[in-house]
Amino acid sequence: MTRKPFRIGRRDFAIGSTVGFTRLRDKGDTVDDLMRKADIALYKAKESGRGRALAFESAMEREVRERRELEADLREAFEYGKLSVEFQPIVNARSGKVVSSEVLVRWFHPTRGEVTPNTFIPIAEHAGLILPLGSWVLRKACAAAAQCPELESVAVNLSPVQFMDPNLVGHITSVLDETGFPPERLVLEITESVFLRDFGSAPDKLEKLRDLGIKISLDDFGTGYSSLSYLRQYKFDKIKIDKSFVDEIGERSDGLAIISAVIALAHNLGLEVTAEGVERQFQVEALRTLGCDTLQGYYFGKPHANPMKITQVSSEDWVDRSPSTAPQNALEHQKVPGIKSSAS
Ligand code: C2E
Ligand code: MG
Ligand code: MG
Repeated sequence: MTRKPFRIGRRDFAIGSTVGFTRLRDKGDTVDDLMRKADIALYKAKESGRGRALAFESAMEREVRERRELEADLREAFEYGKLSVEFQPIVNARSGKVVSSEVLVRWFHPTRGEVTPNTFIPIAEHAGLILPLGSWVLRKACAAAAQCPELESVAVNLSPVQFMDPNLVGHITSVLDETGFPPERLVLEITESVFLRDFGSAPDKLEKLRDLGIKISLDDFGTGYSSLSYLRQYKFDKIKIDKSFVDEIGERSDGLAIISAVIALAHNLGLEVTAEGVERQFQVEALRTLGCDTLQGYYFGKPHANPMKITQVSSEDWVDRSPSTAPQNALEHQKVPGIKSSAS
């Protein structure tokens, strides 16, 4: 009913509504208790897509309480320096050498154990912690990679909330200055959700970052809308094919067809392609044959606290494997003056 558009003057308007409610079941509940429960249901209704009415359930209260606890623990962990970062190798598909490394944030909770970034990054975003946390990760990444000249680049994930920060470019510049890390060796990984949330400033920001020499990589390609218009509208340097596609190699007949088409499209647009989540030798071989430029996954190494360890990944028998058809040019423009190229 409220969704029905109406007209004022020459413009159409539509109002959305989202409702959270509760019923009086427990006689002991005060008006404040009922309001709090309705509010929790409203929060859940908003979180699950808005435009709906949701009744309070006790499981919701547990979930909200748990989330609040995690938020408080995360705040404390960050404040007391309990977070850490790990580095995962990214390998050149032609030479088998480690050329880059992705930095992944880690949180080991004293009672819950390992909490994954997929769980705590959204909490950090919600709690207003993502800017200091992201900044800390960036500083750690640049400082560590500055000590590893063998690595052509280091890749850092950027949350959409960080991307929306109006001071993003200035902030990244000051971290680079502070750590003495060259912008040409920094890769920022963003997902397409950035473009769903950002209202107009994305092209300008991407251009400024690329003008500084920073590379932009489109992460998890294939999982969202993967609209081709993003590839035309925004300038990237790389795309990362999501693990879910790599998993389909050898499982589904169309798995290879999709990867092959994505690689061809990317190369025609002058973009480098990385395949994520590579775990098996036959995946490595298929991806090399299809011309994928760089590979990342447990096959080459799990994320590790020591960035130097990853530069020692050995691939003695690499040359004996099926030769990569990756065009040399796609990697040629990535080369950084002064850094020895590992491509053979
Ligand atoms: P992502 O950027 O796509 O990172 C790749 C994820 O896949 C990592 O999970 C990595 O550990 C995992 N992975 C890599 N190779 C394999 C493999 O062969 N098999 C399997 N099963 N998994 C593999 P992780 O560390 O749990 O991170 C999950 C996501 O959290 C990341 O996805 C990224 O979106 C986000 N994230 C991680 N660190 C940060 C950070 O510092 N800042 C922000 N904003 N997001 C982060
Ligand atoms: Mg990533
Ligand atoms: Mg990814």
